[in-house]
Amino acid sequence: MAEQLIISVSGMRGIIGENLTASIAVEYGFAFGTYLKNNRQRNTRDTAEDTMSVCIGMDSRPSGEMLKSAVTAGLCAVGIDVVDLGIVTTPCVGVMVRELGCAGGIVITASHNPIAYNGIKLLLGNGVAPPAPEAEKVKRCFLERNVSLADSVHCGRVTCSDRTDATHIAKVLAIVDKDAITAKKFKVVLDSVNGAGGRITKKLLAEFGCEVSAINDEPTGLFAHGPEPTAANLTGLCEAVSSGRADIGFAQDPDADRLAIVDENGTYIGEEYTIALAAKYIFSKRTGNAVTNLSTSRMIDDMAGKTGGKVIRTAVGEANVAAAMLENDCIIGGEGNGGVIDLRVGPVRDSLVGIALVMQLMVETEKTISQLAGEIGGYYMSKDKFPADQDQARQILESAKEVFTEAKLETTDGCRFDFDDGWLHLRASNTEPVMRIIVEAKDRPTAQKYIDQVTTIRTRVLAR
Ligand code: MG
Repeated sequence: MAEQLIISVSGMRGIIGENLTASIAVEYGFAFGTYLKNNRQRNTRDTAEDTMSVCIGMDSRPSGEMLKSAVTAGLCAVGIDVVDLGIVTTPCVGVMVRELGCAGGIVITASHNPIAYNGIKLLLGNGVAPPAPEAEKVKRCFLERNVSLADSVHCGRVTCSDRTDATHIAKVLAIVDKDAITAKKFKVVLDSVNGAGGRITKKLLAEFGCEVSAINDEPTGLFAHGPEPTAANLTGLCEAVSSGRADIGFAQDPDADRLAIVDENGTYIGEEYTIALAAKYIFSKRTGNAVTNLSTSRMIDDMAGKTGGKVIRTAVGEANVAAAMLENDCIIGGEGNGGVIDLRVGPVRDSLVGIALVMQLMVETEKTISQLAGEIGGYYMSKDKFPADQDQARQILESAKEVFTEAKLETTDGCRFDFDDGWLHLRASNTEPVMRIIVEAKDRPTAQKYIDQVTTIRTRVLAR
């Protein structure tokens, strides 16, 4: 059976040639443009007389041009001007939407999904994905085809901008001490999986005076390995770091919002460490609070706690984290999948921010990545999923609440149970009939104890 087209808070994602087609993309362009026009009175940057614009970028997938052209046509047809940014990263669009004063932004990307997929990710004028109620309005415009087409004179126009890389890099350089990093002449291996990250990241590393060995840096969209920056997909990077005696290896996903790190021994340290290391540097310099989701490692709490900072936990999803950061004016945020957010650059997970902050940490501490990871680690974490429909998921959560009565309970997004020696997060997926189980504890046997208790609950519920 063909998979369904997914329409969620972050936009639309599907399989090219099956459920995500040019005509669907045109209609999604109609819908997003109509939504923006309907909302213009709430957008202080626009008045009714002004034209509105949307900037659009894409990762390197071969289907990107087709989707970008189709969405652009849809936007122009409802009277929205479009600024074409070409092949750029997702955080680049987050930067440019604000830099250009656009009413919205669009990224043509399916992030870490395989090449068969592509997607249309939406950003509002503040650079953040629409909150759920606004995303619902866009979805309604799309499903009900409730759109208003412009006449011949008022169709939108298309322009291009080639300022993206320079604008974004300048913002990243401003949050670190470029000269101090440059003095270290770091030897770096970069794996951009032939996605959108290669070009701009090589420019940033050149600014930092690094000796760079780039692999999979051509933006062909033909991914050289599985596109998710996980250990199994990064054996080539690990090998290149160790054989090249590099100081560090960086891996990006195709739209370069996620960053994974390989230490100087060629060991993949795990995506959870990216946000923790970035937070370690930020909290060594600034006072304030952090935001992350309920499934992210406690390491960030340890970093914040050293200077009296707090960590606000949100439901899983970049938009939730970014919104909480803006609302609480937080100094660092992100998610445990390697996504780091610094609002001084933009409210979007950004691998370039992660790279800059981690290199600055190496400079300040004069320590290697393996030493730094060793200092902040020491937990055991397990992430898994199992089949459960909505009703089963609800019953499992109810049973878990009866079992884990001694834990501190948080129910913003499924159930998160905090124990003295670890935590457990159980949540139903928004996009597939599975439950995710994330456990972190002081050691493996403790984590296994909680996993086994959930298995018992599951078995009981599924036998009903
Ligand atoms: Mg991504």
